[in-house]
Amino acid sequence: MSDEVAQRITGHTELLGLIASPIRHSQSPRMHNLALATLGLDYAYLAFEVDDGELAGAVAGLKALKVRGWNVSMPNKIAILPLLDHLSPAVRMVGACNTVVNDDGVLTGHVTDGIGYVAALRENGIEPAGAHLTLIGAGGAGTAIAIQAALDGVARLDIFNRRDAVWAIGEKTVATIRENTGTQVELHDLDDVAAFRTAVADSAVLANATNVGMGKLLGVSPLPDTAVLRPDLFVSDVVYAPPRTAFLDQAEAAGCRTMNGLGMMLHQGAAAFELWTGTPMPLDYVREHLLA
Ligand code: NAD
Repeated sequence: MSDEVAQRITGHTELLGLIASPIRHSQSPRMHNLALATLGLDYAYLAFEVDDGELAGAVAGLKALKVRGWNVSMPNKIAILPLLDHLSPAVRMVGACNTVVNDDGVLTGHVTDGIGYVAALRENGIEPAGAHLTLIGAGGAGTAIAIQAALDGVARLDIFNRRDAVWAIGEKTVATIRENTGTQVELHDLDDVAAFRTAVADSAVLANATNVGMGKLLGVSPLPDTAVLRPDLFVSDVVYAPPRTAFLDQAEAAGCRTMNGLGMMLHQGAAAFELWTGTPMPLDYVREHLLA
């Protein structure tokens, strides 16, 4: 590995990166460096531990160093917006940014999480345009998915969330989607099992965008009623560690086709990679080596 780095990094090599805290668990450096190395693109991608108090200084530094672009994760996804020159339409609607492109000192914010989710759906043969989607979770991931799905022409979107602090974010997302797209959208209480049954019965896709199923909630499913599962329902989870959550287990037991969060993670990275380098990420190669 050190030989590889010594061969690859020269005085011409440009920098890409990620600013977040915590950061050391991130798969992004490995994903992007695998893609850069195999394509022979002269960039290197590093992770920088940047907390919210350090964000303005970090962005000024990245700009001064002419870093070509960087990803942004918690806790900086919202706080970075006032530090950018331009925001993509999706960033304006989501209110958060996960990718910055630096064009000669002009910083543009993009959000690729929703793009990644929709690309992963399409990779599984599901076209969101004109479809009905039921989404559990209106937090960061849920907002990005809901807004991109609406921008990509989903006909109807039913969003379910608990009455926790995230509920208000869901209300804002519904208002934004109604103002900016033709998608019919409703927010429901996750405890409203009757509304859940009605929504899923008419949906092509049921998506989990909560963190239920990982970490402290490992083995727990967000599904309020398993009777809604039917073999022609496509079921997705944003979680990819573990690769099969309790929710996806329930769906597979009912004969549904499923997708975990790995595809979304890869495709959001691929979208950022292409914004920075102008070159598509070699996804099959990255998928194979990232998992190896
Ligand atoms: P968030 O804190 O913004 O939102 C958390 C969501 O989970 C909210 O909707 C909340 O109401 C819900 N929730 C929490 N506990 C619950 C419970 N016990 N029952 C029902 N609902 C509950 O978090 P986020 O940033 O949206 O992240 C959510 C998940 O998405 C995380 O697991 C994260 O790792 C994953 N994620 C994956 C990708 C990817 O590329 N695959 C990208 C972004 C986030």
